[in-house]
Amino acid sequence: MNPMEKSTAAQTWRGLPAAQQPDWPDRDVLRRVTDDLATAPPLVQAAECDRLRSRLSEAARGEAFVLQGGDCAEVLGGATADSIQGKLKTLLQMAAILTHGASVPVVKIGRMAGQYAKPRSSPTETREGVTLPSYFGDAVNDRAFTAAARRPDPARLRAVYDASAATLNLVRAFAGGGFADLHRVHAWNQGFLTDSPAAGRYERLATEIDRTMAFMRACGVDPRQLHITEFFTSHEGLLLDYESALTREDEATGRSYATSAHLLWIGERTRDPDGAHVEYFSRVANPVAIKLGPSTTADDLLAYVDRIDPQRLPGRLSFVTRMGRDRVRDVLPVLMEKAAANGIRACWITDPMHGNTFTADGGYKTRRFDDVIDEVKGFFEVHKALGVQPGGIHVELTGEDVTECLGGGHDIGVGDLARSYDSACDPRLNHSQSLDLAFLVAEMLQD
Ligand code: PEP
Ligand code: MN
Repeated sequence: MNPMEKSTAAQTWRGLPAAQQPDWPDRDVLRRVTDDLATAPPLVQAAECDRLRSRLSEAARGEAFVLQGGDCAEVLGGATADSIQGKLKTLLQMAAILTHGASVPVVKIGRMAGQYAKPRSSPTETREGVTLPSYFGDAVNDRAFTAAARRPDPARLRAVYDASAATLNLVRAFAGGGFADLHRVHAWNQGFLTDSPAAGRYERLATEIDRTMAFMRACGVDPRQLHITEFFTSHEGLLLDYESALTREDEATGRSYATSAHLLWIGERTRDPDGAHVEYFSRVANPVAIKLGPSTTADDLLAYVDRIDPQRLPGRLSFVTRMGRDRVRDVLPVLMEKAAANGIRACWITDPMHGNTFTADGGYKTRRFDDVIDEVKGFFEVHKALGVQPGGIHVELTGEDVTECLGGGHDIGVGDLARSYDSACDPRLNHSQSLDLAFLVAEMLQD
């Protein structure tokens, strides 16, 4: 890919209704920043995006399972080695649990190295009589509740690109340089709390994996795949000025790619079939996901396929459903049956987080671990009834010992939320809740 090759296809969204875009106070500064980004090196390569598309087509056929996870919102100051490593280790542990439990290859996709922009249900926020613009993610403004902090600043887009590049650098080093080697399956558990049932269960599983690998080595089998791993990045493609500045045309094929991440998704609030987001994503060749909430109609679904995947390219389109535990069993079958009747073979992924959020006493936004599990169960039940394999899960998680979601192995209660609530946006599963979830999903995959 020629890094200097700007893509004209990336500009066709301009003039269409673009939901959730910041009201940048200074368009000249925005232009300077995006001109600068338009000559910056791509963060990902076309061939890597194509490889992920092929992995997603395997997941759509039931031959692989997607694990997509990370923070709801990354923060610029949070791109530290410890925090990135904690998320990576958690995802690697979850992948080991799923692979071991279900004997299925896991496609690992971080919700990281670019997840800095947030759509919001309200453009403003009021606290104690003061109204300010909402926090739209570190790509736009700062979460401190002051007028200066909440002012959108286009210079943040460059800072986001730099933080994403630094994060991705570490991700690539881990994935290819030994840390993700399956022989280190025990080491991934180090540095985490060890007093949860999930941690003990993981240790036993790691010992079993170690034994299997020793057996294989003794038999003279030591494949390269055990020493390296494939790890992909993803984020919500919300800010179209940013994404189109980083879109490049691949010299070899003439196709345009968003180069800010391998997979980008269109959020629940920006999925208007006639809107700017759907138009932009119809022009890039990356694998694309769309979040589908309970109001999604079968006609919407067909419109997305017509607009984004008219050629029905395997792995091109994934649907990340976030219906809520109460709706998933009613709404999902209607959509999946319509897709099947039209010969659409997308990869269906469950996001059991975003339909199950509520505000607890004390004002904390939270989710119950049991509701999350119930939505995953509903998603699996619907698949079973239709005779298809589930494609994967999409979760908000962190490697840190936060208290943001209720329940799980340590049985976090409402009174615990204040203790360690660090999320810049939505509540994340902590390390032990993430392992708990992986063990439960592995069991569901075996059924
Ligand atoms: C998110 O993934 O953080 C998000 C805002 O999701 P959704 O678009 O599904 O509400
Ligand atoms: Mn979120």
